[in-house]
Parts: sequence; structure tokens; C-alpha cells
Amino acid sequence: MLLSRPLTHTDHDRDIAGMTYVYPVVSRRAGGVSVGINLNPNNACNWRCIYCQVPGLERGGPPPIDLALLEAELRAMLTDIVRGDFMSRQLPEDMRRLNDIALSGNGEPTSAVEFPAVVELIGRLMAESGLPAQVKLVLITNGSLAGKAYVQAGLRRMAQLNGEVWFKFDRATAAGMKQVNDTEADPERHYQRLKTVAGLCATWVQTCMFALDAVPPAEVEVTAYLDLLARSRAEAVPLSGVLLYGLARPSMQAEAPQLSHLPPEWLDNLAARIKELGLNVKVSV
Ligand code: SF4
Repeated sequence: MLLSRPLTHTDHDRDIAGMTYVYPVVSRRAGGVSVGINLNPNNACNWRCIYCQVPGLERGGPPPIDLALLEAELRAMLTDIVRGDFMSRQLPEDMRRLNDIALSGNGEPTSAVEFPAVVELIGRLMAESGLPAQVKLVLITNGSLAGKAYVQAGLRRMAQLNGEVWFKFDRATAAGMKQVNDTEADPERHYQRLKTVAGLCATWVQTCMFALDAVPPAEVEVTAYLDLLARSRAEAVPLSGVLLYGLARPSMQAEAPQLSHLPPEWLDNLAARIKELGLNVKVSV
């Protein structure tokens, strides 16, 4: 399998491998490569986060997943990485490490009813490829469908595979979720979903913070968010910690011109307040 160009950490084109579901991404921060699995090749999501980097994002879910095609693509990619010359051919020397396989696509991965079958398939191919044990399986999700039995079945299987969930919780008020995620989701119900997910599989809360029209998130939003994390501690929700992001890549949504980076001190201050709650926090700007 030959990519259309060498991989770089700034290249997040999910069509780079010419595959429908599988794409490699280099992460400078993680110092290696991630194999992404995009279950939403139609760019459809049930949320519409205003910082979303998916071009042409639409509301909706994915078309039926062609599991045979996904298996063929993932096997080809993993074989090339583990036994072929993918690393030396496509990557600079200091990046030649496979970090994870990430269910992270152009929409919400758990919208696919095939989600548990996909997790099963990935687990089988990870074992078959003889990947090192430190290669993780990661699900990057907005968590909105975590109440569904098929999603929970997939999460249980992920836990058996030593997997990890990154659960989106950007704002903890209804107004904040409406503004940032363009969803009517209720924060209390979303918190209950977080508890469910964390009870099934190792879970990090993933949060994106940015300025809107040059104004940082209001203190009322920050307080609601910290209260939610404090409650998770009081209720012994087994969170691995918080992944706190600034604007990593440009938004592809209509609001893009209104979004801007927060000063690093702002994020550091929030990280310190999260740490005071006794939670791990990783900041990435
Ligand atoms: S949940 Fe993810 S894919 Fe969906 S709109 Fe938000 S950032 Fe984009």
C-alpha cells in the first residue's frame, strides 16, 4: 500500500491511503503514528460542534459498514506497518512507532450499529498482526449514544482489549452544549452516560476550550464544568483523567472565523483547577 505522499503531523487527510475506512495519522505530540478508523465516510454526525474539523459535515449517521472491506483495509495497513516497510517509507525516523488504533472519524463512531462487530474485528486483527501490547485501541466519541445496548456491548469488548474511551464533555450547561456542540443534549443525561461509559471501559473526559468572538468561556460555564468533574470525584466515577484541548486544527464549520486560541495561561489555569480536584489532566494546545 503506497500513500499519495509522505505522512506529516500536519496532514490529517483521511483519504491519504485511498481507503474507505482506514487512514494513518502522524502525531508529533504522541511521537508516532495512529491508525484511524473512520466509520463515517459520509461526513455525517449527530452533533455539530462549531470547532469540528470535518469538511462538509452533515447531520446524520453512517451508511451500513462494509465489514469485509474494513477488515481487508485494516489487515493491509497493519501488515504493512508490522511486516512491511511502511514506517521507513512514509515516516521520519523519530516517528516510526505505532501508538494506537483509533475509532475516530468524520462523525460519531458509535452511530454505526456495527460498532461492536467493528471492535471485535479490530481485536482479532490486532492479535493476528502481533502488535506490541502497548498499542492501544482508542474510541473518540461524543458519548451521546452510550445508553444504547449495542454501544455498551462494544465498550465491554473494548475493555477486554485494554481499550480506552475519550468522552467528549466540552460544556456542562444546556446553553453551553447548544452553543459549542449544537446539540439539545441535556448535561445531566450526558453526565449519566459518562458514568456508564467509565464503568465499562477506561475513560478520559475530552474537552475543547477556545475563545468565541475573542471572549473566553464565561466563568459560569467553567464553574459548571468543574462542578461536574468534582461530582464525578465525589461519586467515585473511575475516570482516567481529562484531556484538555485548545483549538488543534482549524474548524471547518461556518463559525470558524469567530473561534480563536485562548492564551496558554488560561488553559494552564483551568488545568490547575482540575488537578486540585484530584484528576489527571493532559493539556494540548
Ligand atoms: S462529535 Fe466529533 S465529528 Fe461530531 S461534530 Fe463534534 S467534533 Fe465533529
